[in-house]
Amino acid sequence: MSAGQENRGDPSAMGAAARWVQPEAPRPEPTPDDAEFFAAAARGEFVLQCCPECETTRHPPRPMCPRCHAPGGVWQAASGRGAIYTWTVVHGPTLPAFVDELPYIVIDVQLDEGPHMIGRLRGCTVADVRAGRRVEAVFEPGADGLALISWRCVD
Ligand SMILES: [Zn+2]
Repeated sequence: MSAGQENRGDPSAMGAAARWVQPEAPRPEPTPDDAEFFAAAARGEFVLQCCPECETTRHPPRPMCPRCHAPGGVWQAASGRGAIYTWTVVHGPTLPAFVDELPYIVIDVQLDEGPHMIGRLRGCTVADVRAGRRVEAVFEPGADGLALISWRCVD
């Protein structure tokens, strides 16, 4: 590795005396559009944004309704429940922070309110996963005060 070149986590490139340091998992950086979503999640509350004009529920949060193009949105308590729409099993490559968790399951949840949300499925094996299986949100608080939402099967 030449000077100025960054080691991107390959332990074989670090030399025999180098120590392997597990990088931290990336964390969300809330924006004005999704700050309330993350603030609610940190309180253990599951909320979705709703159009003030046509009442369409949407996710991810954004400044304008994708259906009627009305600006703004109203935050409403939501069920935090849905059904597995589709999924993938991640065997790698993945970020170094997640290598110890391979293989892991990422699901697309169709929320009971309509929108879809992507997240990790916890507590299930690949054999447990099927389309339509009921799931509920799990809040995973971090040291940074934010909480990530993952999913667990409830049926
Ligand atoms: Zn609308």
